[in-house]
Amino acid sequence: MNIHEYQAKQLFSEYGVPVAAGAVAKTPAEFDAALAKLPPGKIVVKSQIHAGGRGKGKFIDGFAGGVKIAADAAQAKDYAGKMLGNTLVTHQTGPAGRKVQTIFFTAATGIAKEYYLAILLDRATSQPVIIASTEGGMDIEHVADHMPEKIVRRYVNPGVGISPYVGRELGYKLGLGDDQVKQFTKLLDGLYRFYWEKDCAMVEINPLIVTPEGKIEALDAKVSFDDNALYRHPEIQALRDLNEEDSKEIEASKFNLNYIALDGNIACLVNGAGLAMATMDIIQYFGGKPANFLDVGGGANEEQVTAAFRIILSDPAVKGILVNIFGGIMKCDIIARGVIAAARNVKLTVPLVVRLEGTNVELGREILAQSGLAITAADSLSDAAQKIVAALK
Ligand code: GDP
Ligand code: MN
Repeated sequence: MNIHEYQAKQLFSEYGVPVAAGAVAKTPAEFDAALAKLPPGKIVVKSQIHAGGRGKGKFIDGFAGGVKIAADAAQAKDYAGKMLGNTLVTHQTGPAGRKVQTIFFTAATGIAKEYYLAILLDRATSQPVIIASTEGGMDIEHVADHMPEKIVRRYVNPGVGISPYVGRELGYKLGLGDDQVKQFTKLLDGLYRFYWEKDCAMVEINPLIVTPEGKIEALDAKVSFDDNALYRHPEIQALRDLNEEDSKEIEASKFNLNYIALDGNIACLVNGAGLAMATMDIIQYFGGKPANFLDVGGGANEEQVTAAFRIILSDPAVKGILVNIFGGIMKCDIIARGVIAAARNVKLTVPLVVRLEGTNVELGREILAQSGLAITAADSLSDAAQKIVAALK
């Protein structure tokens, strides 16, 4: 789960990570009250969407910049009015962009130097890794590609956590002065505790800045949480913004379905995440493009299968469906009945290929064959993928 910058900065301050004063507005009527909370001076007007690259982004009506520095409150209001309700396109949103529904005003800070700092899970070593760079404000992917020597990595033993010497080591590697190293060490300690205690998947500060007065501050904040740990953090769940999520994914989560929308036209309905990934691969291998990832789980019932069909078919791009089920815990005859009930229920209009394997497979295939529905049976993974790709041609 992702949260907005303003929410992440609120959490940062609770953990002692310095951020500029800020205030939020969700309607133009709230602009004045929000701006009144800020100290006098220049104001940064920041579009809140779950995507980066806002500063260089462009709105669909031509207005440039999802992050703008205003000279005073009047100009801040003017910028905010142009951003709120407008759709911002950045290199991370895709061409459709994202509608801005919240504006975050912050007191503008002077910048002497920009850095990059992130903590995320390194899957290869099963350890948190701190990533830091002197090349802040740029895309870290760009830095990694063109100047990998500018990236410092520090792995953290999760059983030990970090000690102040880790902050000092990294701070000096970044070329910070003694006073900034002290501030950096404190900031990193707070950031790591936040990452650890709230079960984050990633925290990223880009840029982390040193002000002309020598103060270290998080100018931007990007945070994502491990969905599987959210049950431990109701206060984090409360920060979820459904406006930022795919409506099909929201619906799927209500039925405990693991669904991720993709941009192809062959929908897949599979039990088991590994089988779902293999199914997507093989569709691709035979020249098709998957419209989604969908794992209905090992013990899916008829209601879930019906919901899955409804969600799949609500995507206008879907031109065919591949059901690939391995009956282990769940018997194939039960799955077959579920598929038929769901197909009748949602009035199936696109080709449907079903591959069943496992317990009671013969009975399952017989039930499908006798259903009277236009279902193409397949008897292997590659047979199924080839049949659905062919059906779309
Ligand atoms: P992003 O484009 O989505 O990553 O949004 P950021 O919050 O990182 O803002 C984009 C850029 O605006 C930053 O990299 C800074 O260069 C600039 N910026 C943001 N806030 C301030 C500020 O308070 N003072 C100054 N001088 N520049 C800022
Ligand atoms: Mn940024």
